Amino acid sequence: MTSLYIHIPFCVRKCEYCDFYSGVATEHDVDRYLDALEHELRLRLPDGFAPATVFMGGGTPTRLSEKQLLRLGDALRSHIDLSNCAEFTSEINPGTLTPEKAVALVCLGVTRASFGVQSFDAHFLKALGRAYEAGTATQAVEMARAAGIQRISMDLMFALPGQTLDHLREDLNAALAHGTEHLSLYALTFEDDTPLTRQLLNGEVEPCPQELEREMFTVVGETCAANGVRRYEVSNFARLGAECRHNIVYWTLGDWHGVGAGAHGMLDGKITRNAADFHAYSRALLQENRLPEVETEQLSPMARAESLLLMGMRLTQGVELARFRQFAGVEFASVCGEAAARLKRQGLLEMTPTHVRATPAGLLMLDSVILELASGMEQPA
Ligand code: SF4
Repeated sequence: MTSLYIHIPFCVRKCEYCDFYSGVATEHDVDRYLDALEHELRLRLPDGFAPATVFMGGGTPTRLSEKQLLRLGDALRSHIDLSNCAEFTSEINPGTLTPEKAVALVCLGVTRASFGVQSFDAHFLKALGRAYEAGTATQAVEMARAAGIQRISMDLMFALPGQTLDHLREDLNAALAHGTEHLSLYALTFEDDTPLTRQLLNGEVEPCPQELEREMFTVVGETCAANGVRRYEVSNFARLGAECRHNIVYWTLGDWHGVGAGAHGMLDGKITRNAADFHAYSRALLQENRLPEVETEQLSPMARAESLLLMGMRLTQGVELARFRQFAGVEFASVCGEAAARLKRQGLLEMTPTHVRATPAGLLMLDSVILELASGMEQPA
């Protein structure tokens, strides 16, 4: 089964910390982009394509007007069959949702709303440059539920400059009080060339101390667990059965088509990357009648297995050894056995008969664990 990712690269304005591919655009740009997106669906997808899951992200999908969302829905219905789709998620920036847009999302086929809340605290929302007021998220969740979207996920950020453990607990409790079934919690990172990073370099903000960030990681896990929302991926938490099925496709290196500017896809180990420029994207499709790919790459068996480790070790269940063998063509133990034994002795890794996974201590330093495992893969099998 193959999934589908749709990228909508438009935002109302750019947040202070964001380095995702997104930008502001005119209505004319957006309409032209939707023309191009429909053409990409026509060129890229096989006839009768029935995705296992769909995820519409950005940018801000709800930056589109109600009319544009309905138009996108018509395009999707013409090119894909949603009858077997297990989950259709749309990212929602709370400040851009209206009751009419929530209904349009349901017409599109959306069954799950992922709200980019980041914080419920007015001070932190302002510092992050989020384009909405505290309290807006609550209204947006009500709009989604009233339209019939019952599956609710929220993104929150932690390790914000000046944030304390109490601030974090307040945000977590506020999110859980909305009856959300899924939470994504990401530590703020200072990406190159963002306004927030410039503030850091100018000494205007101080980064969260590393020790406090580690404590926050632990508090997040404990607070969620106490509320029946368990960690299933290093940054993601869900009630039983409410895990994001689409993201599990990425973490297990499944197959998906990516459509839209900046989107990438993966089919049988072949990666496709679209132009991360909505003008170039629209031009390729509408004027040159071709796919807007800037790059395709067929991963070697070992590179594919390495990517599986990189993604799959993020899951608390870890990487399935049979899947590693399927990709690499050799047993996990024959390429990573020595590194795995070292990590096991340090209490950072566990092996079961079917999986290799990080321990809770290993999850805290996951990058080093993965690097150590992957170091064995550089030697010939
Ligand atoms: S809404 Fe999301 S994609 Fe858009 S600028 Fe903010 S963080 Fe970036």
